[in-house]
Amino acid sequence: MSETKIVNGDKFKELRQSLALSYPEEALAEIDKAYSIAKSAHDGQLRLSGEPYISHPIAVAEILYGFGMDHQSIIASLLHDTVEDTSLTLDEVKQLFGEEVAHLVNGVTKLGKIPLVTKEEQQAENLRKMLLAMSEDIRVMIIKLADRLHNMRTLAFKEPQRRRDIALETIEVYAPIAHRLGIRPIKEELEDLSISYLDHVAYHEIEERLTEQSTRRHEFLNDIKNHISERIQSVVPDARVDGRIKSVHGIYRKMYMQGKNFDEIYDIYAVRIIVDSVIDCYNCLGIIHDLYRPLPGRFKDYISTPKPNMYQSLHTTVIGSEGIPFEVQIRTWEMHQTAEYGIAAHWKYKLGMSNAKLEDRLSWLRQLLDSQKDSDNPEDLVLTIKTDLVPEEVYVFTPKGDVINLPMGATVIDFAYAIHTAVGNRMQGAKVDGRIVPIDYNVKTGEIVDIITSSNPNKGPSRDWLKIVKTSGARTKIRAWFKKERRDENIVEGRNEVEREFRRNFIRLSDQELEEFLLALAERQHLNSVEDFYAAIGYGGISLARLMPRIKDDYNKMMKASEPETPVIAPVPKKNKTSDGGVVVEGIDNCLIKFSRCCNPLPGDEIIGFITRGHGVSIHKRDCTNVPAVIENSAEPDRWLKAYWGNVVRDEFKSTLLITCFNRVGMVADITVQFANMHVMIHDINTRSFKDGRSAIALTITVNSIEHLKSVIAKVEKVNGVLSIERTGM
Ligand code: MN
Repeated sequence: MSETKIVNGDKFKELRQSLALSYPEEALAEIDKAYSIAKSAHDGQLRLSGEPYISHPIAVAEILYGFGMDHQSIIASLLHDTVEDTSLTLDEVKQLFGEEVAHLVNGVTKLGKIPLVTKEEQQAENLRKMLLAMSEDIRVMIIKLADRLHNMRTLAFKEPQRRRDIALETIEVYAPIAHRLGIRPIKEELEDLSISYLDHVAYHEIEERLTEQSTRRHEFLNDIKNHISERIQSVVPDARVDGRIKSVHGIYRKMYMQGKNFDEIYDIYAVRIIVDSVIDCYNCLGIIHDLYRPLPGRFKDYISTPKPNMYQSLHTTVIGSEGIPFEVQIRTWEMHQTAEYGIAAHWKYKLGMSNAKLEDRLSWLRQLLDSQKDSDNPEDLVLTIKTDLVPEEVYVFTPKGDVINLPMGATVIDFAYAIHTAVGNRMQGAKVDGRIVPIDYNVKTGEIVDIITSSNPNKGPSRDWLKIVKTSGARTKIRAWFKKERRDENIVEGRNEVEREFRRNFIRLSDQELEEFLLALAERQHLNSVEDFYAAIGYGGISLARLMPRIKDDYNKMMKASEPETPVIAPVPKKNKTSDGGVVVEGIDNCLIKFSRCCNPLPGDEIIGFITRGHGVSIHKRDCTNVPAVIENSAEPDRWLKAYWGNVVRDEFKSTLLITCFNRVGMVADITVQFANMHVMIHDINTRSFKDGRSAIALTITVNSIEHLKSVIAKVEKVNGVLSIERTGM
């Protein structure tokens, strides 16, 4: 029938042929079942590329197959978007494919819409859910990475703003996770694709420079390769020598972050030597340093000191003929598997890694989740991934010669806590290479750090340290100390902060009311008393600043509820919104509408509504003598509502927009006026302002078609101060 269907059938057929080589019959039967269920569940859905949706799960399965993942991962990848985007439920997946596959699918399924949170919070909550699922089964993250990789490969079909958002999230969150799991090809491709969207110009410049003299470059690489092979064959006959040009992102990072020219980058060329044993690695290193002059300070022995993601290799940079430097990486085959596939090598090479060993390799994940337990700020998690998992690391030494590795920018305090909690808590100062340094000193690779501790066992950290430390580990330990050791102090500190913030935000309550109000807040944070609430603020476990918007909301609601005088709007059963001669009153749905006798408005007249006490809304002509000329100056401005003649709309539907804008006076009015001018009905409007001076306005409107919605968005986008409009829900 349709051509695309045949194409997809073929795509799966191709993959299916490869799968047949790797999995037993029963597994293949399950895979076929998953494919046909996914295909019919996604039937009729299209990717933005215009391809049938099923092409995406197939592509993800193909990536996972390339990494040698097991058949359950393949099944889960075929089903990975069904629960989120189709009518298939998790229970059905469980019944059809069992607990494990269901767990994998659930892990990559986003949480349902969480009301009243920002996009960032939503992102963080989804990430946390995924990391938790991953801590139980690492395959969740490998599937997610493959999913993200294919989405990045097809990102061109998204609109520009979405592209940038997704690319940014990819480079800040997913590439570091891929790095930490040691899956190099995914990490590099994610980074390269992200950069191509985030800094299009630079990306293409580098790409161009790389292809410019590509023949010459390959000749150069080949020459070195041959030269090295020749010499090495005589000593290590089985050695394999490869040459490659490094990834665009690797070059990009060096150029832009270290401010170097393209020509100053050493790492454009890399030669890799793979051998059978560790002894041979060092033998080869000797030969290389004999053949070429090594650049000082560029030798790194990751064999004796593996990177945290278990990467092992010898690295050295040498000067080739023509004075062009290049990097040489020397490793064994086993190290090579880990370098290329990271944790996925466990499945690919059936290494039979014991659970304990897998656990060990995921200890960073557990630490990361642990460190988030005391935090009420979901965005901390994203921040932690950004800082703790970044590829840039430093290696420093204890006076005894043990290596401690820390993220770039870590201070001596981070170092102290990395050695032992007690060392951190009793730290008084530090020496680096024998010199006393300030406590915010950033350690660098190769330095020997000696922590000076106090002999007083009760000496604790200082609160200021929370602002200095870089690692979440240190931050958690400092908070834990204050939480435990300084409860009274924390309560006082917390109470002061609450009083200060409430004053600043004009929250005035009697002692009794305040007590009740705070208790409700405490309970929402799963705390038992107001004192616990104060204490949590005091030690930094709860950020009051972050809670303030919601506290203000609660306060306003409470005050409103206790106000005795509110205009009464009589709801009328079963009255069509626009049936009363097709009048729409802004902000009110289903209300009784009466036409005032004083001016008898007719369709086409400019009109306005007045909330009467008990009789719904009366509609006047705008220029009626009973309507104040300037509403704002009238006695009861709030009772006057915008009203207009609605179009007689047949296919109307509701749509929710999220508008991000600057928080200026009159912003909301300027926006709602636009809707009124276009005769677009607003059903619901919610605003939230943020500390950075922005506001988010969520509103639900009625439109009669997508085209209509687009024209509405285009109009509102032009309002001064509007930053972005996003269609949510639907
Ligand atoms: Mn997907």
